[in-house]
Amino acid sequence: MAPHSGHTAGEGSHAYTRRAALTLASRAAAGAGAGALALSGCATTVNASSDRMHVVATTPILADLAQQIAGDRASVHSLVPAGADPHSYEPSLRDIRDVAYARCALTNGLLLEQRKLTKMVEANLPAGVVSVAVAEKIEQYGGKLEAIVEDASLDSIWLGLRVEEGGQNESAPADSSEAGMRFEVQSVRARTATDSSNAQLAAFITQTFGAVEMLCDSHARGVNLTREGDTAIRTGNMGSLELPLQAHTHLSWAFSDAGEYAIELSATAVKAPESVRSSRGTLYCAVGRDPQELVDRLAKEQNVSAAEIKVLSAGHADITARTGDGRLVLRADSSQGAVEYELNRTVVAVPSRTLQEVPAGGSYRFLRSGASEHRGQVYLLAQAVLGKHVHGEIDPHIWHSVPNAKASVQVIRDALISADPAGASEYATRTEQVMKELDALDAQLRQVYGGLPESARNLVTTHDGYRYLASTYGLHIAGFVSASASGEPSIQQRQRLRRTVEDLKVPAIYLDKSTAMRSPVLTELAREAQVRTGVLYSDTLDAQAPHYAQMMLANAHTIALCSGASSGGDSSGASCSEASAS
Ligand SMILES: [Zn+2]
Ligand SMILES: [Zn+2]
Repeated sequence: MAPHSGHTAGEGSHAYTRRAALTLASRAAAGAGAGALALSGCATTVNASSDRMHVVATTPILADLAQQIAGDRASVHSLVPAGADPHSYEPSLRDIRDVAYARCALTNGLLLEQRKLTKMVEANLPAGVVSVAVAEKIEQYGGKLEAIVEDASLDSIWLGLRVEEGGQNESAPADSSEAGMRFEVQSVRARTATDSSNAQLAAFITQTFGAVEMLCDSHARGVNLTREGDTAIRTGNMGSLELPLQAHTHLSWAFSDAGEYAIELSATAVKAPESVRSSRGTLYCAVGRDPQELVDRLAKEQNVSAAEIKVLSAGHADITARTGDGRLVLRADSSQGAVEYELNRTVVAVPSRTLQEVPAGGSYRFLRSGASEHRGQVYLLAQAVLGKHVHGEIDPHIWHSVPNAKASVQVIRDALISADPAGASEYATRTEQVMKELDALDAQLRQVYGGLPESARNLVTTHDGYRYLASTYGLHIAGFVSASASGEPSIQQRQRLRRTVEDLKVPAIYLDKSTAMRSPVLTELAREAQVRTGVLYSDTLDAQAPHYAQMMLANAHTIALCSGASSGGDSSGASCSEASAS
C-alpha cells in the first residue's frame, strides 16, 4: 500500500486559463537583442527593467523546452528548482515576485503541481498575461493522455481511508514511525433483494505489483454468517489494514449484489502514544438502488430528519479516524476544502453504473466467490488513484514520451506567440528545429529500448510516473514500491517485491532521482532481492542532465545498463549499480 500524507483535494482542476493576450509586441521586439541566458531553470534574478520577455514555468523540464523555443527573445525561469520535487514544492516569496513580472506562465497541469503552486501562479500573474497548462493542451497536437486507472468510474465516489489528528490533542505523534492505526471491519450486514447471504463485500488496495491487500473480504474463510430477518450478518476475521498516523490511502470497494450494506469499522491505535484514540463507526452503502430508501430508514432509526442524512455520490472522500477525539468520520473534499460528515449519518451511493466485469487476473479471484446476481460482475468503487502523490485521473508525467514532448513544444510555441506576437516567426522557426531534434531523440530512444531483452522491459520503480515511457517505448510497469509516510516499505511489500522480482526475472529496481537519497531501505531491498538498482530521472533535471534530451537518454542508458545490455553511445547521467553478492 502507499499511504500518503499531505493530500490535497483533487476536484476537477483544469487550471488552464488563457487570458486575453496583451499586445506587447513593441516591448518584446526591443528585447530581442538582450544578452542571452544559456541555461533554463537557472536562478537568474528577475530584473524588472529587463526588456526581454520574462516567462515562468513550473518545472525545469518545461522551462528547458520553453527556453529552446524562446531563444534570445525571452528568458524562461523555472519556479521549482532543478532537483526538487514538483509534487511537493511549495512556492516561496521570491517565486511570487517572479510570477508578478512574467508575461507568460507555463504550468504542467493535470495535478502534477501542488494546488498551492498553481494557485499562486494564477493569483499573482498580472492581468492579461498568458497562462497555459501545457499537458492539458497536448491532445490538440496529437499528444496522448493516459488515465491512471483506465476504467476509473469517474462519476462515482472515490472512497479511501485516512488517519488524522483532529480534535483536542496537544502532542504531535506523527513522527513516530512505528505508530499507526489498524482498520478492521467488525461486521458486514447486507440486505439484498434475493438471498442476502450471497452478498459479498471486498475492500482492497491494488497497488504494489498488482497484488491485492485486503481491508475486508466478507467471504474470507472462517467468517461467521448469521441472519436477522432478511439481513445477513458476517463477523470474524475479514482482514485488516494498517496506516501510519497522518496518512491516507485509496481503496477499491466491490459489492457483489445490489442492496444495503452496513459496514461496522474500527480503527485501533497500534504502537501509538496513549493520546492517540481508537474509533469505531458504521459505514452505510446503498448499492445499485436509490439511496433515498436507506436515508429514510436511517433517519427513522436515529430519530432525525432525512435532511440530516448526507448522501455522498461523487468526489473524493475518506473514512477518517480522528486520533485526537476518537471519532470515525467521512471526510469529503469539496471546493471549499475538506468537509467532515458523521459516518453514521452518511450514505455512500454505489450506483448501477459502477457495475463492471471483475478485473482479469488471479489476484481478483476472491471477487468471484460470492457473486450471485450478476455473474462475473461487481459494483465497484474503483481505487481510481494510485501512488502517493498523484490525485488526478490522468497521469501528468507526459514528457516521458517524446511524441508528447513534441506536442508540448507546439503548445508552448502558441503560448509564447500569444504573449509576444512580434516574435511569432522566430518562435515558429525554432519550434521546427526543436521538433526535428525531438524526432532524432525519439529514434535514438526506440533503438535503445528496442534492444532490451524481454525481462528488462519490466520496470519496477519507486515513482509512479513512467506510464508514458512504458506505453511509448514498449516497456511494462511491473509495479512500484512507494516509500510510505515513514519511508519504510512494509514486510508485505518486501515479500511482494521479492515475488515480483522472481516471477518476472526483473534485473533491476529503479529509484527516482529526487527520492533516491531518501530510500536507503529500497536500496537494501534490492540488495536482498539480488537485483541491480538504477536511478531514473522522473520529474526534474540536474547538473548531469540539464536538458530534456539528456534526461531521456540518461534514463534509456540506465535501463539498458541495468539490463546488462550495452546501450552504446554517451551514457552521461546514467547510473546502475550492481547487485551486491549476499
Ligand atoms: Zn488521495
Ligand atoms: Zn512525479
